[in-house]
Amino acid sequence: MSDAVGDRLARVRERMTAAATRGGRSPEGLTLVAVSKRKPLSAIVEAYEAGQRDFGENYGQELLSKAEQLADRDDIRWHYIGHLQTNKVKQLVGPVAAPRTGAVVALLHGVDRAKLIGAIAKRAAAADTTVDLLVQVNISGEDTKSGCHPDQLGELLSAVDGADHLRLRGLMTMPPPVADPEEARGWFQQLRELRDRHGGTERLPELSMGMSQDFEVAIEEGATLVRVGTAIFGARE
Ligand SMILES: *Cc1c(COP(=O)(O)O)cnc(C)c1O
Repeated sequence: MSDAVGDRLARVRERMTAAATRGGRSPEGLTLVAVSKRKPLSAIVEAYEAGQRDFGENYGQELLSKAEQLADRDDIRWHYIGHLQTNKVKQLVGPVAAPRTGAVVALLHGVDRAKLIGAIAKRAAAADTTVDLLVQVNISGEDTKSGCHPDQLGELLSAVDGADHLRLRGLMTMPPPVADPEEARGWFQQLRELRDRHGGTERLPELSMGMSQDFEVAIEEGATLVRVGTAIFGARE
C-alpha cells in the first residue's frame, strides 16, 4: 500500500462505505473527520487536495495556528475534538478566536460539564454566534478526565437545549483502547442506546465515535462522524 495521504484517505473512504453497507446504512450520512493533530500543514494540504474538508485537532493553539495558516482554504471545517478547559473557551469560540479569518470551529466534540456549557454559551452570546456541539459521554466509566457519566447526560442535554446560541448536535464518546475492534462494539451500542433514550435522532442526529482502529465497527453501530488520524496520516511521533 502506498504511503501517500491521498491513497490512504481513499482506502479509509472505501472501508467506510463498505461498513455502512454492512450496517444497512447509506454512506451519504457519514462524515470523515481527518485527525491532523501533531501533523504538519503539508499533510493537511495533501488531504485537502484529495478532497478532504473536515479536520480534527485537540490542542486549541495548534488548531488556531493551522486555521490561520490555511485561511485561504476557507471551506475547511475545523473540529475541536480535545478536552476543553473553561479558560480556553474564549480562544476557540467566536470570530475573535481568529481575527484575521473570522474562522469559528465548526463543531466542538468534547463538551462534558455544566460549567463548560455555561462558559461556551456566554462566549457565544458575546461573539453573537451560534456554536454547534456534541456532549461527550464517558461510556466505559474509565477513570479519565473527559466525558460525563451517563447518569448526568439528561441534565447536560437540557442545559444545552436551554441555552441561546448553542445548538445540540449529538453525542461523542472515546472508549478505552482495545486490542480487537470487536471489543469496542459494545461501547458504541451503548452510546447509540443512550441517544435513543434521550430523544433519538431528531434531537441528537450525530454520533461521533470510532477512530483508526475501530471506525468500521462504529459505523456498523451508527456513527455519523468518525475521527481518523493514524490510518490517514501515519503514526504520530
Ligand atoms: C487522536 C484522536 C483521534 C484519532 O486517533 P487515531 O487512532 O490516530 O485514529 C480520535 N479522537 C480523538 C478524541 C483523538 O484525540
